[in-house]
Amino acid sequence: MSMREEVFSDIQKLLERVFNQSPFYGKKFKEAGFRLEDIKSAEDFKRLPFSDKDELRLAYPLGLLSVPQDEVVRIHSSSGTTGSPVIIPYTRQDVEDWATMFARCYEIAGITKKDVIQITPGYGLWTAGIGFQAGCEKLGAMAVPMGPGNTDKQIQMMIDLKSTVICATSSYALLLAEEVEKRQLHDKICLKKGVIGSERWGDLMRNRIRTELGIELFDIYGLTEVYGPGIAMDCECHEGMHYFDDFLYFEIIDSETGEVLPDGEVGELVITTLKKEAAPLVRYRTHDLTRIIPGKCSCGRSFPMIDRIIGRTDDMVKVKGVNIYPGQIDSVLRDIHGVSSEYQIIINHVDGKDQMILRVERLPEAAPEDLEHRITEVFKKRIGIKIDVETVVVGGLPRSEKKSKRVFDYRDK
Ligand code: ZN
Repeated sequence: MSMREEVFSDIQKLLERVFNQSPFYGKKFKEAGFRLEDIKSAEDFKRLPFSDKDELRLAYPLGLLSVPQDEVVRIHSSSGTTGSPVIIPYTRQDVEDWATMFARCYEIAGITKKDVIQITPGYGLWTAGIGFQAGCEKLGAMAVPMGPGNTDKQIQMMIDLKSTVICATSSYALLLAEEVEKRQLHDKICLKKGVIGSERWGDLMRNRIRTELGIELFDIYGLTEVYGPGIAMDCECHEGMHYFDDFLYFEIIDSETGEVLPDGEVGELVITTLKKEAAPLVRYRTHDLTRIIPGKCSCGRSFPMIDRIIGRTDDMVKVKGVNIYPGQIDSVLRDIHGVSSEYQIIINHVDGKDQMILRVERLPEAAPEDLEHRITEVFKKRIGIKIDVETVVVGGLPRSEKKSKRVFDYRDK
C-alpha cells in the first residue's frame, strides 16, 4: 500500500536503529551497497533488499540481536524442517507490544474480560500458546492454558469451566468438533467463539467446525519471526483480517520478480517491524500468499486489512505446467456437493508425464463414481488440467493435532 508520511518517519527511525545496532542488517545493507543516508523516501525503501528465513538461520544463535543481551527477557524459536532453527529474542517492550496487539485481536473478535479462553496451541519455544495467554491476561479474561492434545481432558475442562472461547489450529478444532459430535455433548458446552490460526484452511472445514461446535470463527494470523500469532485478526464482519499498521508495515510482492504489487493483488506478504527492539526485521519475506484489501471494512475500524492466507509460495506446485495453490483446490471442492472437508494431493511423474491424484472424503449420501466424475470435470474446467480422483469415506484421511500435510509430491526434483 502507498506509504503514509508518519509510517515513513517510523521506518526512518527503524533504519537508523538497524544500520547502527544490528550486526545482521549492518553487514547485509553494507554488502548490498546501501548507506543510511541513501534512504530518503518510500521509493528508496523499496530498493532495500528483502530478508529471508535462510539468512535468519545463518544468524543462529543470537546474531539477530540488536540490543545489549541483558535487555532480553525471553527468546522464541521457529523450528525449521532443515538446518538450524531461527532464534528470536524479545525485550520487555517487545513482549508488551505483542500482548497489546494480541489483546486487540480478542477485542476485535468481540471477546471481553467476561470470557473464559481455552488455549490449545502449544507452549514452549515456539510462540503460539504463550501469545494467546499474554493477550488473554492483558484483556483480563480467564485463560485455561491447556496446550495441545489430551482430547478427553480438553473436553472435560471445556464443560466444567464453561469455556466460551476456543483457540486452536483448524485441524485440532475439527478434531474437537468431531469428538463433541460423536459424544453428543452440544448441550453441555458453552463455546461461542473460535480463534483459529496457524495454517490455511478452506470453507468446507470452516463450515464443519462452525456447525458442529455451534460457534463463530475468527482467523488469526502471525509468525514467530514477527512476534508470533496475533498480528492480524478477523472481525465480526469477516471481510478480511485487520492488521496493526502502528506496529507493522505490510507489502505484497510478486514472489518471482520481487516487485511491489498494488493493493488488491495477490502475492507474497512482506513485513517490516516498526517497533520491534531485540530483533527488528526489514522487508521480511513471509512466503504467505494473500492480498491487501483496498478500502475500509464495514465494521468501521481504521486498521487496514489483508485477506485470508491462500497458501504458501513453497506449497505452490507446478503440475503439467500449471501453477496450483492449495487455496484453489479448496475453492473447487467448496462448490461440489457431496464432498467433505479433507483432501490430499499426490503427484507422480509416470512415463514422462505428471500425474496428479486428488484424494477426497465423500459424504455418506454421495455415490463414489458420480462424485469422482463431477470433481474431475470441475477441476478440468477451473484449473485447466486433467486429474485422477479417488474418494474415501469421511474419516478415511488422517487427522492431525497440528498441521495437516496435504500435498505429497513424489517427483524427482
Ligand atoms: Zn472489520
